[in-house]
Amino acid sequence: MTILGKMQILADSAQFDLCDYVNKQKNSEVNLPGIYNASSNGCEIPLFKTLMTNKCKNDCKYCINECKRNFTRMELSPREIAKVFLNYYDSNLVNGLFLSSGVGNTIDQTMENLIETIRILRKEYGYQDYIHLKIIPGASKDSIKRAMSLSDRISMNIEAATKDGLYELSSTKDYNKDILKRIKWINDLSKRDSSLAPSGQTTQLVIGANDETDEEILKRMESLYNKFDLRRTYFSAFTPVEGTELENRIGESTERTAQLYHADALLSEYNFKKNEIVFNENGQLSLSEDPKILAAQEMNIFPVEINSAPYIELIRVPGIGTKSAKKIINIRKKMPFKKLSDLKKIGVVTKRAEPYIKIEGKYQTTFQ
Ligand code: SF4
Repeated sequence: MTILGKMQILADSAQFDLCDYVNKQKNSEVNLPGIYNASSNGCEIPLFKTLMTNKCKNDCKYCINECKRNFTRMELSPREIAKVFLNYYDSNLVNGLFLSSGVGNTIDQTMENLIETIRILRKEYGYQDYIHLKIIPGASKDSIKRAMSLSDRISMNIEAATKDGLYELSSTKDYNKDILKRIKWINDLSKRDSSLAPSGQTTQLVIGANDETDEEILKRMESLYNKFDLRRTYFSAFTPVEGTELENRIGESTERTAQLYHADALLSEYNFKKNEIVFNENGQLSLSEDPKILAAQEMNIFPVEINSAPYIELIRVPGIGTKSAKKIINIRKKMPFKKLSDLKKIGVVTKRAEPYIKIEGKYQTTFQ
């Protein structure tokens, strides 16, 4: 089989790692495997995303590559991956690499293959652009440190919100030891040396492969954001894969993951506490209402005065984001706001914000 043929299979095998909300296959005019658009700060960045091997000794029940599934297994060597990637990069098809792997032989050997690939790129070919490397659960501290020294960003998938939740999905990964302990190591290494993976670490959960609630998921995320400098979380909606133990489980809706993204941003960017987020009696977010508006309806701080409210209150107003809150604070130091249209000009979504604010003491509207 050609390298391109192998690439197609490995890129397809990386699908368990795609986040429905942020990654989309690149436009069809480029019909090459492994190209995905990642979203970052509102921009789409084409990345080459692949596994080194789809062989895996783990038994994650939602995953296309789980060890009991019967399908074509293969691997590419570090040099083959490096060369294919550079072909894409030099042809301006992608701006960076997102490299991951099944656990083909041992965890140590898999980590060495990943590290060797990016070492070849950085040290032999002088590649300086973006690399995101997925750390294998259970990896040694030494290999994590070396991977971080060659990567811009690294990630360790937690997959589930709780130890029991992961145990339902995999009998071969230990939640505390193989995953949470490694996330802590990554955080400690970053704090000691800021040149290691300077774009920080992220994580990912599979949503809907077990019965964990949104409340359990966001409780875990709050704890991780508080303890570690986690840059962001990706939520991947579970999709049943033929030939896996969960092939008959109903797939998860992208509406749910979209709401989790909104609520997660309240924790990670807006300093909300999990207890401020509104869940139904089953611990789930509303699928139709904005979590920020639902939270605001339960708070007793509104309406806040635009010309004096502290940042922490401004960002709790629906329609005011972190950027517009900072602009409000800068502008009002020089000149107080007089009317709604002034807020609209700086990016406030005034239709959403007006029930929750006063301007120079005047209510803008009444609560619904
Ligand atoms: S470790 Fe689990 S999720 Fe990752 S490739 Fe192997 S079976 Fe799939």
